[in-house]
Amino acid sequence: MTTTGETNTAPPTSRYRLAGHWREARPEQELKVLSPVDGSAVGSVHEFTVAEVDEVFAAARRARGAWAARPLTERTGLLHRFADLLAQNADPIARVLTMEIAKPCNDAKDEVVRSADYIRHTAEDALRLVGETQFSDAFPGQARNKLAIAHRVPVGTVLAIPPFNYPVNLAVSKIAPALATGNAVVLKPPSHGALSALMMCELAYQVGIPPTVLQAVTGRGSRIGDHLVTHAGVDLITFTGSSGTGTALARKAGMVPLLLELGGKDPAIVLDDADVEAAAADIVSGAFAYSGQRCTAVKRVLVTRVVADDLVAAIVRRTARLTVGDPRDNARITPLVDPEAAAEAERMTKDAEAAGAVVVHGGGREGNLMRPTVVDHVTEDMDLAWVEPFAPVLPVIRVGSAAEAVRLANRSEYGLQAAVFTCDIDMAIQLAARLDVGTVQVNGRTARGPDHFPFLGTKASGMGTQGVRPSIEAMTRVKSLVVNLREKDLGGRT
Ligand code: NAP
Repeated sequence: MTTTGETNTAPPTSRYRLAGHWREARPEQELKVLSPVDGSAVGSVHEFTVAEVDEVFAAARRARGAWAARPLTERTGLLHRFADLLAQNADPIARVLTMEIAKPCNDAKDEVVRSADYIRHTAEDALRLVGETQFSDAFPGQARNKLAIAHRVPVGTVLAIPPFNYPVNLAVSKIAPALATGNAVVLKPPSHGALSALMMCELAYQVGIPPTVLQAVTGRGSRIGDHLVTHAGVDLITFTGSSGTGTALARKAGMVPLLLELGGKDPAIVLDDADVEAAAADIVSGAFAYSGQRCTAVKRVLVTRVVADDLVAAIVRRTARLTVGDPRDNARITPLVDPEAAAEAERMTKDAEAAGAVVVHGGGREGNLMRPTVVDHVTEDMDLAWVEPFAPVLPVIRVGSAAEAVRLANRSEYGLQAAVFTCDIDMAIQLAARLDVGTVQVNGRTARGPDHFPFLGTKASGMGTQGVRPSIEAMTRVKSLVVNLREKDLGGRT
């Protein structure tokens, strides 16, 4: 199917871009992208060498001054045109995305459209970035003889590393604020998702964003990751991925500002007075959308014993309606990208069962296709209570009080989000104040969007705040200009 304005976005596999120029691909440097749907080859990308990465950063350094010097309205105008072209090409990119990462086709298209909206919102908001001025006499003992003008300047070259689960959206949420504010970007796409990310970059070049200002470096993170994150050409790293990779990266990166969006084990806390049916609907969509492969997925339920039976019955009823199968048919539960995640989720489920938990729905898998699984009566001594499965497995822990729910929520190494379901707003606010997480959702599922909301994690869930405005600010630093004022005789009365 072709939509109006659709362009030829398919990345050629026989060539790759290096420092803005096409190069012939070499078979020994070819990285095949295999589909988690059926094992077929979706395409291949070039595996960059260390020397090529050096060329990329050198090109970024050469290009970024001219980019930063262009009027802001010119940069944001290009971003608007990029967003339009991306939206027009939502169908072909979504088709590749569906095969690359087994995302249900409608969700894949939503991801591309949402990314275009994110770019537009960022382009508009970047125009409203203003600095501040201060006179010196606001500090004790100072005369009014100095004026500080603090404004924001680009950091330089931004290294952007998104994960496989949103290869377009989580690339765009890094690229757009960086480009709008005058930075060069080196994008390291995830190996699963690299083809759709390259398609997106080609659209950026078509509207006139220079291929040296936005460059993609493909290849396995395990091979080129260290060289990228320790490169002297990097001025800021914005990374989304697992807490393990993010923590290791932070140790290696040194004195470079970091924005880290990492893993989570988001609890949904359901109290005695909650609307159980509404809570169950949110929990099921929160836990099982994209087969649980979302950082903000509901990854455990903490429910008070009074309503636990009703809630579990409602969750099971709704989970049983989820379709399982092929993402091209828009099935809700699709094969997992990481086959080890399926095996690990099954192991944790079996271990929990052996220790006394009850699998009330699902439980099995065929290869990397895991059926949506609900495990009741999970207790603190089980991995399922603490480990992020990145699979469609939902543990339910029964608690005696709101206080116990808070204790279990905070015992986690993660602190991304939490959801609280209650009809008592005083209770919701007081509970939220005690939860050590970036965001508390009251009567709604844990979720990242809308994308302009501030998004952050505490503890092992991350560092720094993202969103639209916070990301724009994060990609810049304050530069202060102090004007020293001398007394002047104006030559008469004023
Ligand atoms: P991952 O394995 O940590 O990979 C993330 C990205 O880092 C990929 O592009 C990967 O490239 C790259 N990478 C791997 N090793 C690297 C290294 N040594 N140095 C630099 N980069 C390296 O995570 P994932 O499996 O793609 O994504 C799932 C995880 O992301 C989950 O834990 C999830 O919770 C988290 N996540 C968090 C958020 C959030 O906003 N908090 C959002 C989405 C996902 P390759 O693909 O080539 O290995």
